[in-house]
Amino acid sequence: MPLGEFELISRFFSRPSARDDVLLGVGDDAAVLRVPEGMALVAATDTLVEGRHFLPGTEPESIGHQALAVNLSDMAAMGAVPAWVLLSLSIPQSDEEWVRRFASGLYALAGRFDVALVGGDTVRGPLVVTVEVLGFVEPGKVLRRGGARPGDLLYVSGSPGEAAAGLELLKAASPALQAAHGALVRKLLYAEPRVALGRELRTCATSAMDVSDGLLGDLAKLCAASECGARIDLDGLPVSAALEAAFGRDRAERFVLQGGDDYELLFTLPPDGAEMIVRALAAHCPIHPIGVIETGRRLRGLRGGAEVTLPGDGFDHFA
Ligand code: ADP
Ligand code: MG
Repeated sequence: MPLGEFELISRFFSRPSARDDVLLGVGDDAAVLRVPEGMALVAATDTLVEGRHFLPGTEPESIGHQALAVNLSDMAAMGAVPAWVLLSLSIPQSDEEWVRRFASGLYALAGRFDVALVGGDTVRGPLVVTVEVLGFVEPGKVLRRGGARPGDLLYVSGSPGEAAAGLELLKAASPALQAAHGALVRKLLYAEPRVALGRELRTCATSAMDVSDGLLGDLAKLCAASECGARIDLDGLPVSAALEAAFGRDRAERFVLQGGDDYELLFTLPPDGAEMIVRALAAHCPIHPIGVIETGRRLRGLRGGAEVTLPGDGFDHFA
């Protein structure tokens, strides 16, 4: 007999947490949480829809991981410490094995970031996963999109483009290709939220955001919020060896500029002392300089000293 809603919750979503700021977790009508004195509460939510944000048949561990990772990435982009999450799960049927695997992916990531699952909702419906994350940050240290100034240097973490390339490989449905380029596929299925980097940035960056819809499109948003433009140096674009090996230089470059789902951080630093700061940040993950903030409202690409047209921007759900 398939498990009912309450068995699913008590069996798979009621693991005790070690956090002492969870005064009441799963089981009552609502969770009760204690925000540390002097901190501001930070809240974000993101929804994953089957067929839209992940391919049908995606391994459930990855869906659990991603649903949390995209939310932790929003906390990272604000310079916040994630603390608690709520999970709203809509599933077509009570598939015990699927839910067990989904929960194991979610809890594995939650454990690594000391985040507690404190509540949620479980309903029957199309496969849709919504996670809400709550965290905190020092009120004066919030990382925002709108603080970049002309002359600030522009950086991105990790290897943007790899996740979109991984999606392309999964869609091609060639097991041989996927095996040959497993690192790219893994990047899509198990993105690493840059929480530690975001915490460091809150004291030195002038602006930051996470790259979910593609580097160019998200840079355009950062520039709009900061009322400025930017120049991207295409010669120094961080095209990973794995990406170039799988798709060749030109396509790889397009993945870097336009691919979504990487959940890397895009941020700006004032030029003074930037080099030293970047050296320190690189202890957390690779950091790449990609350009500079300019006056005006344009995004310009520079290659070999000459201006080149940039490809159209990132992903828009309603385009
Ligand atoms: P309500 O009737 O108040 O909506 P539910 O019966 O839906 O409560 O849920 C019972 C308890 O289980 C609540 O504490 C709720 O937060 C929690 N819960 C339900 N679904 C999940 C889930 N998928 N993950 C974590 N907690 C959940
Ligand atoms: Mg409910």
